[in-house]
Amino acid sequence: MNNIEYLKAQRSEPWREELRKSMKNKERADIPRVKMPELDPDFRSHNYEEVNLGLSLEQALTEAKRCLDCPDPQCITGCPVEINIPKFIKNIERNNVLEAAKTLKETSALPAVCGRVCPQEKQCESRCIYLKMKKEAVAIGYLERFASDFERESGSISVPELAESNGMKIAVVGSGPAGLSFAGDMVKLGYDVTVYEALHEIGGVLKYGIPEFRLPNDIVDVEIDILQKMGVKFITNCIVGKTISYDDLHEEGYKGIFIASGAGLPNFMNIPGENLSGVLSSNEYLTRVNLMAANKEESDTPVFFGKKVAVIGGGNTAMDSVRTARRLGAEKAMIVYRRSEEEMPARVEEVKHAKEEGVIFLNLHNPIKYIGDEKGRVRQMVLQKMELGEPDASGRRKPIEIPGAIETLDVDMVVVAIGVSPNPLIPSAFEGLNVSKWGTIIVNQNTLQTDLPDVFAGGDIVRGGATVILAMGDGRKAAAAMHEQLSVNSHQ
Ligand code: FAD
Ligand code: SF4
Repeated sequence: MNNIEYLKAQRSEPWREELRKSMKNKERADIPRVKMPELDPDFRSHNYEEVNLGLSLEQALTEAKRCLDCPDPQCITGCPVEINIPKFIKNIERNNVLEAAKTLKETSALPAVCGRVCPQEKQCESRCIYLKMKKEAVAIGYLERFASDFERESGSISVPELAESNGMKIAVVGSGPAGLSFAGDMVKLGYDVTVYEALHEIGGVLKYGIPEFRLPNDIVDVEIDILQKMGVKFITNCIVGKTISYDDLHEEGYKGIFIASGAGLPNFMNIPGENLSGVLSSNEYLTRVNLMAANKEESDTPVFFGKKVAVIGGGNTAMDSVRTARRLGAEKAMIVYRRSEEEMPARVEEVKHAKEEGVIFLNLHNPIKYIGDEKGRVRQMVLQKMELGEPDASGRRKPIEIPGAIETLDVDMVVVAIGVSPNPLIPSAFEGLNVSKWGTIIVNQNTLQTDLPDVFAGGDIVRGGATVILAMGDGRKAAAAMHEQLSVNSHQ
């Protein structure tokens, strides 16, 4: 049965038909979209508690009724891991939330994570039929989070079924969303999967980048725990390319390798004063706070608690950094972004939350210089004011300098969050692996296979800085392709 036939068969199950008949589409469409309950901005901007509180059962049951269980559900095509969205939502509607959670796990290794950080408005929700009806999309992401949280809180966490072991060993480099998603699919197919992680914690950016107030580490750990129960092995503090080599992996008997080492190399602007004390990358700032507890007083290597903090950039990383600075006591926490809010790559929700928490937005401003004091500590930033011109290669309107429009502001800390590049270690350690001029690994777009036949790659190491769900989609795609290759080889 192909995927379309499978979805049709699922949709024609008697309980789904009954549910569709139980309410007219017009009545369903008249229900307003649910609002996510949130912590009060004044309270939350001084602590690390999760901002979004999740839906109540009553709210979820009502929101689930809005879904029309479309015959050709486009929402699924908007989801890179192809969650059977109508099936999980209709399971919530009939109040079988544990079954909804099971449906999510059929294709996603990290539903509680995605329900929190996935840009659903650009993915599945952007394809919901309601948008064509000029109504708000079904809150698919909120419902995904609800079903996963409900299962976790119920204590009866299901573990997906596994195929019989085929004895073949597979190595994964990196434990971010790409690596975890790949590992989940391969272990389900019967492979013996080991994930190598350079850091002491498993989860990649989910742990060291995205802060607790958006994605608590405990939530990530529960999903990692399920993978461990499925048989995935994790080896931490092991840098592939340094601690062990490509040849070592072959000697260990691995038949396939998936590289999911992410893009963790911070970019800087190379402007005067960027090497002053107090100017740091968002990677360093967030990793030290999220992973090394450098915000705690007892820390041996505490971060500086800036009072006038400028964060340069307009993406999720910039929002996370500025909201972290606010929580660490910044009285003036500023976003400095060279385009306008419309062009910001950050999720709309993050921008809204940052504003509510008192973050100041200096849009159409670009830093050109930092000025330090006699001790080499940053004290001021010089900003060039910008205006928008014609769209550039990215499709966004190009920022252009307004001649003579210069402003100088006092700062005591600057966090640079203008993007990341792939770490060059793996490409240099795997002889024969080809990389683009940006340092990303070159792959066959259909299979994600690299120029080395047993090596596949996906996530940020291939895309540059992208999103959790695109990385996870790559993990699934590479698992399917590697499985096909190994199955063919084993029958020859
Ligand atoms: P990563 O998550 O970077 O994981 C790579 C892992 O590989 C790391 O753990 C690294 O230590 C390990 N590694 C690297 N080299 C080696 C080696 N040689 N040997 C062993 N291990 C190695 N996306 C969203 O969708 N929504 C968001 O809200 C969002 N917010 C973000 C906030 C921040 C602060 C950041 C930095 C990113 C955010 N993103 C968000 C982007 C998203 O997190 C990434 O696109 C995604 O994590 C990429 O997944 P990955 O598995 O490719 O890499
Ligand atoms: Fe439900 Fe919207 Fe998907 Fe249709 S497109 S199945 S209404 S979520």
